[in-house]
Amino acid sequence: MGTRKKVHTFVRVKPTDDFAHEMIKYGDDNKSIDIHLKKDTRRGVVNNQQTDWSFKLDGVLHNASQDLVYETVAKDVVAQALDGYNGTIMCYGQTGAGKTYTMTGTTENYKHRGILPRALQQVFRMIEERPTHAITVRVSYLEIYNESLFDLLSTLPYVGPSVTPMTIVENPQGVFIKGLSVHLTSQEEDAFSLLFEGETNRIIASHTMNKNSSRSHCIFTIYVEVHSRTLSDEKYITSKINLVDLAGSERLGKSGSEGRVLKEATYINKSLSFLEQAIIALGDQKREHVPFRQCKLTHTLKDSLGGNCNMVLLTNIYGEAAQLEETLSSLRFASRMKLVTTEPAINEKYDAERMVKNLEKELALLKQELAIHDSLANRTLVNYDPMDEIQIAEINSQVRRYLEGTLDEIDIINLRQIQEVFNQFRVVLSQQEQEVESALRRKYTLIDKNDFAAISAVQKAGLVDVDGHLVGEPDGQGFGLGVTPFSAKPGKKSKSKKTFKEQLRPSTPPPKPVAFEDFKNERGSEINRIFKENKSILNERRKRASETTQRINAIKREMDVTKEALNFQKSLREKQGEYENKGLMIIDEEEFLLILKLKDLKKQYRTEYQDLRDLRAEIQYCQHLVDQCRHRLLTEFDIWYNESFFIPEDLQVALKPGGSIRPGMVPVSRIMSLGEDAQDKFSQLQQVLLPEGPDSVAFYNAKVKTEQKHNYLKTMMGLQQAHRK
Ligand code: ADP
Ligand code: MG
Repeated sequence: MGTRKKVHTFVRVKPTDDFAHEMIKYGDDNKSIDIHLKKDTRRGVVNNQQTDWSFKLDGVLHNASQDLVYETVAKDVVAQALDGYNGTIMCYGQTGAGKTYTMTGTTENYKHRGILPRALQQVFRMIEERPTHAITVRVSYLEIYNESLFDLLSTLPYVGPSVTPMTIVENPQGVFIKGLSVHLTSQEEDAFSLLFEGETNRIIASHTMNKNSSRSHCIFTIYVEVHSRTLSDEKYITSKINLVDLAGSERLGKSGSEGRVLKEATYINKSLSFLEQAIIALGDQKREHVPFRQCKLTHTLKDSLGGNCNMVLLTNIYGEAAQLEETLSSLRFASRMKLVTTEPAINEKYDAERMVKNLEKELALLKQELAIHDSLANRTLVNYDPMDEIQIAEINSQVRRYLEGTLDEIDIINLRQIQEVFNQFRVVLSQQEQEVESALRRKYTLIDKNDFAAISAVQKAGLVDVDGHLVGEPDGQGFGLGVTPFSAKPGKKSKSKKTFKEQLRPSTPPPKPVAFEDFKNERGSEINRIFKENKSILNERRKRASETTQRINAIKREMDVTKEALNFQKSLREKQGEYENKGLMIIDEEEFLLILKLKDLKKQYRTEYQDLRDLRAEIQYCQHLVDQCRHRLLTEFDIWYNESFFIPEDLQVALKPGGSIRPGMVPVSRIMSLGEDAQDKFSQLQQVLLPEGPDSVAFYNAKVKTEQKHNYLKTMMGLQQAHRK
């Protein structure tokens, strides 16, 4: 397979008592023919006409028996067909030179039978020798006459005459002729009957249809399909052996033929020259297009010519001097064919049904294997089948409980379950998103901040003020809720109007998102800068950690590969026998290098791993800083916001630097009640409770925070009421 072959060319010389010894000479190796033509004296004194030719071939068959011809020409091609290689054997030559004798032989004398019956015999003999394979044989017999197709086996009672003319059809499996009967034959005898039927029809047709049999091409095809019997192998092979008896190659019509003869001659000349073009094109690797469709002969043989099949051309010639001109022409054709190379390839196909069966078998086996692993790992029997609705609903409920906090963790069972858990996360998330949105819609009119027409309509109706703030709402409580401020873009805003601090205290406090932007540019600028800085450090560390992780994974993979190679080397050494020298194991250089490599990789792995651990600690620390900063930013903002818009002037004095209260550090509740110091209370609490266990800190921390928030809100409500009065 895959090796390039030449088209095999042989010449068979028809036996004669009148052999032109002076004109036709064979080479010593029987692989060449030299032709010598006597000078044509009629052409005058100056005569440049060529008189000597030498043709190189694969073999010259002179006085060869049918037996020898078969051995030399056909045996290998037929044998290889059972291995999946298409094969084509063609007889070429002028009428009467022995093409039909070579192909079919005489049907009266068994000894003189030709290639066709011998090929059938060989196929059936080989089937007998291969009980491990189920091999089917089919045959068809096609005649092409004046570019029309005839089924030479259509006369069989179970075939019946075809109503529509036959057509050549191409599909991915190859070329076939629609309407041509193909006959399954289970034994040699049946195959012979078919052959004789076809031969008889050829002769009858030449009488009844006034059809000259030497004017048509006849293609006998043996189709072979080989399935393995013992193996459950889904691969199977198919092949075709085409045995072609071509129409006479003599150039008719040159001497004033007319009518039918002229028509036949035109068709034959054309189809034979197209045949030559196609074969030559096939042998030319650079050529992409091969002109198969130019005539019925080449189109029919498309997947059996040159290219990827074994091809043999047998040229039948006369040995007499009188036929020398046609003989020369035939030999020229043969030597052109000899230059053509082919690349035979196996026609391998897949039996879909067998493949499914095999895969099912393997699946069952793998499931069993998994069950064994599960029981070895002491896991209760895990089901690996696709999940049903009830199982999916159960996972959905697990995910919901997990999100609510009533379920601490979701047990991992198998890959399918993990995938479904993620799936359900997505389902729950999108449901929640929808719920939030519809809740908002129930409560607020949501307008796209870029939809200016809608905005101005709402403004006209007096529902919102210029900032997009709902009229009648005392504050823009809750970030991002309610109508998004139309002028929320900080850049645009700072250009168009003064910040709130620069204005007199407004009667209506600005919405929090807007005020927050101002805060970040003013009092909160320093803490905001630190917050951003910490965040960028955190992101950078995270990126580095992810890169390190990738490197670690790569090293790990390489370690695995190296380990495997090492194991392989070891097993090789054990198989080949080990050497010991003074109690030391001798290993070869390759194994030694692998050990060194593995050591090196391990070292790299350790270093990288240490780096990653350091990075992780740093990330944790940075994350903590960022969280703290964020918290600080928001707390300070709240204080600032309240100072700026709610806390009465007189109280503010106390908050001024140098005043009795340090701004920014004291909760508003303290300012208002000025009795208890929650911070102090918390420190006391910590000191008392810490010995209970460090874990309690988070708990109490949260408790105090909630209390603070609660107090704060209460105070704010009071303030707002006071403010309105
Ligand atoms: P083609 O098919 O090329 O027109 P045929 O095979 O019909 O030629 O041969 C013409 C005649 O010559 C037939 O009677 C055939 O039996 C005979 N003949 C051809 N070749 C041989 C041969 N090698 N030995 C004996 N007879 C032959
Ligand atoms: Mg013939």
